[in-house]
Amino acid sequence: MKFCIYRLRQVNYIGSTVNIKSRIKKHKFSCHNKKSVQYYSELYKYIRASGLTIKPKIYATYEVNGTKEFNHKMRMLIEQYYIEKYDTINNGLNCVRAFTSAKYKRENTRQWKLNNRDRINKRQRIKVKCEKCGCISNKCNILRHLKTNKCKRIYNNNISNNIYETKEAN
Ligand SMILES: [Zn+2]
Repeated sequence: MKFCIYRLRQVNYIGSTVNIKSRIKKHKFSCHNKKSVQYYSELYKYIRASGLTIKPKIYATYEVNGTKEFNHKMRMLIEQYYIEKYDTINNGLNCVRAFTSAKYKRENTRQWKLNNRDRINKRQRIKVKCEKCGCISNKCNILRHLKTNKCKRIYNNNISNNIYETKEAN
């Protein structure tokens, strides 16, 4: 599979494609046709507002010959390399990464938790009453609580007490 990496320089956008001609057509369609799902994306809004012409510059051409999955992964990896090289997410109009490694995801989650520590703590402190046994538990622990022996034991006791009471009543 052959593909190329291109850049829309005026807006600092990196893309990759196996067919540059049809990719340009698609960009133009997305930019100027309200029926396109991406019509209101930042990229096209900006291009329309600035009256720019979509003229990609091809930066490199690659050829990979593996399975379909392998080829796709290589293409995304290489595209991601250029996205980082030109910093097109922070300083351009790419809105998503082409490739995200497991390590990056872990690092990102860790960072997200650090940034949102207060919110997470607050959420974890919310107390709820278990419907089965009546115990008070942290909201975030309730699912785990429902599986505990303690909850099952109290629940079963309550049921047998109810049965017993019903029998007594009769
Ligand atoms: Zn319970």
